[in-house]
Amino acid sequence: MNSQSGLIPRLPEGRWALFLDIDGTLLEHAAHPDAVSVSEELRVLLERIERRLDGALAFITGRSIAAVDHLFDPLKLRIAGLYGLEHRLLPNGQVEAADEPADMAALADEIELELASKAVYVERKGPVLAIHTRAAPQLLKRATELVGAALARLPKGYRVIAGNAGVELMPLEAAKGAAIRRFMQLDPFSGRRPVFLGDDTSDENGFDTVNALGGISIRVKPQGETAARFAIEDVAGAIAWLGANFGDPAGAALPLRALSA
Ligand SMILES: [Mg+2]
Repeated sequence: MNSQSGLIPRLPEGRWALFLDIDGTLLEHAAHPDAVSVSEELRVLLERIERRLDGALAFITGRSIAAVDHLFDPLKLRIAGLYGLEHRLLPNGQVEAADEPADMAALADEIELELASKAVYVERKGPVLAIHTRAAPQLLKRATELVGAALARLPKGYRVIAGNAGVELMPLEAAKGAAIRRFMQLDPFSGRRPVFLGDDTSDENGFDTVNALGGISIRVKPQGETAARFAIEDVAGAIAWLGANFGDPAGAALPLRALSA
């Protein structure tokens, strides 16, 4: 691609595999993760892109697959959920669930006891524990301390990722980059060039992977350090870019803003 203009070759010239984070990338964040909704336009666009890419489209998200299916109902796509701990390799295929979850219930209970009455949402996602502080940003620091203390009490093999508006505790093998690599080994992704859009700390590992595979890494609403090579300013811009480059055979392609390395 021409990195000066940020224009990538259009379909069908480019044989792309597209990987999409959901929250903060395709959907504006809400105070509570259940408070978001998916427009009919977005569903239709994703269906069209999926067809035009011969299926080489997958969600790569921290949400569970069940939560994403509920949100996008009736649309089902290929997906890695819980940062790659769950997979569905075909749109209507079986969900390969995460390994037996560690019992984090007691830790979640304790954190909830201290924080949940203060507009903090403690989300239990099996092997992943997410503390959402978007509605109470002043509590992010305390939430991070509590999750750090919880990490110290778990067996080895877990880590903490602090994001834009919360902090999550997850098994080490939960990594978006590994989820992208897994898809890239399979039809219809293999042999294509990966493009990954994300907006948060947990997406950085996906950007590194896509860069290493010679693909295109795009951070939506970048703030501070990022491994992504390109930026899009907001969710509306991301959807417009996807529509122009992958959804609309007649429209003009939109450029990306290159980030200096
Ligand atoms: Mg996100």
